[in-house]
Amino acid sequence: MIDTLRLTAEEASGLLERGEVSPAELHAAYLGAIEERDGELNAYLRTVAELDGEGVPIAFKDLISTRGVETTAGSRILSGYTPVFDATVATRCREAGLPLLGKTNMDEFAMGSSTENSGFGPTRNPWDPERVPGGSSGGSAAAVAAGLAPWALGSDTGGSVKQPAALCGVVGLRPTYGTVSRYGILAFASSLDQIGPLTKTVRDCALLYRTIAGRDPCDSTTVDLPGPVELPEGEDLRRVRIGLPRQMLELEGIEPGVARAVESALDLARELGAEVAECELPRSVEYGLPCYYLIAPAEASSNLARYDGVRYGLRVDEAWELDAMYERTRDAGFGDEPKRRIMLGTYALSAGYYEAYYGQAQKVRTLIRREHEAVFECFDLIASATSPTVAFPLGAKTQNPLAMYASDLLTIPSNLAGLPGLSIPCGLADALPVGLQLIGPQFSENLLFRAGHALEQALAFDAVPARLAGAAT
Ligand code: GLN
Repeated sequence: MIDTLRLTAEEASGLLERGEVSPAELHAAYLGAIEERDGELNAYLRTVAELDGEGVPIAFKDLISTRGVETTAGSRILSGYTPVFDATVATRCREAGLPLLGKTNMDEFAMGSSTENSGFGPTRNPWDPERVPGGSSGGSAAAVAAGLAPWALGSDTGGSVKQPAALCGVVGLRPTYGTVSRYGILAFASSLDQIGPLTKTVRDCALLYRTIAGRDPCDSTTVDLPGPVELPEGEDLRRVRIGLPRQMLELEGIEPGVARAVESALDLARELGAEVAECELPRSVEYGLPCYYLIAPAEASSNLARYDGVRYGLRVDEAWELDAMYERTRDAGFGDEPKRRIMLGTYALSAGYYEAYYGQAQKVRTLIRREHEAVFECFDLIASATSPTVAFPLGAKTQNPLAMYASDLLTIPSNLAGLPGLSIPCGLADALPVGLQLIGPQFSENLLFRAGHALEQALAFDAVPARLAGAAT
């Protein structure tokens, strides 16, 4: 019997190498776990029964194009859309022999922080099914936490890998912008979108990052990595200088249990030899959210213009008149959040407002990047909570978009600066997982993995949701 709840990708790969399980048995074990537990969780939008690789199976967020497998970005407007090509990350996983387990649920077009904006029903948190898994990569995070996939890919524009990783008690990496190809990803905000791994351990995260990262001629924003991706081994943090942005520590709305778990993780970091001291990111924290909510909707309004009923997915065309077909298709196909953002973004880009909104936000973005660069003159890493709160109850924020947006207050600033960020589970508050966010300079993934791994060993967090721990399959 394979215990998918606890099995890491690295362990699964060991089982395969030693011939202790066959690729088919491993794949079937996960499909069995999905059959058993996903009725409650709704982490998957669809599974893939046939085995198309000999390695450790993987799940993809449903905005990664997969040849011959329906891809909807969580939107009804793409119901029935089956890509004729693979995204580059899918090709790389295929070439590495990783068979696809299925496509995971998400907020529609990755707009959201709870997976409740999915056009196909919310995903539930494996730690407490009355609560959200975070978002927008909530399906991928929940799948890994519940043992329904050994590892998964998500996407992170403003926090959509890091925040659900935190809320589900798994590891999530948002890579440096430009290290992972966006070719074949259904675009939300192109200057921010990055694909990243969700895994049980930091080493698994490094392995998967190594598989997907690198220059891709099909995405001109990608670059060669400065060096090979190293698997972390060390267990100390000697000579690592960690900055704690005072404005993030003092943020209103941080739950006391979250603050406590992060503090004790940092105490542990000190014991491992790190130098921990306060630093300053005043503009990033104050202006990050408003800046993001101009840039991201502006880019989204442009990217989503292509969903008009002509080429992809849904078409509502009883009128047989082109403009009416566009309008009806978009009205019926998009949910409230994409509509809200298309309107905001179109407004921010319109003649007469462009400079005041989009142009101004770009300038603020530059300030945020410089503020981070200044901190990295004195520190190697920046640490904070990943999310101000633990997983919240379903429905708690659906009527209040601003409260939902505030979930990403701590993840957005470094994303605007193009920097990599790792979230690792650092403890529990009210029996729910808390995430620690580590941010590094561009291309510092190896350092993030090394620090994350050292802390992970010292923290010894049990990543199996308590309510599932008894029912191991
Ligand atoms: N929650 C943020 C938003 O709704 C970030 C989403 C993301 O990173 N895709 O835009």
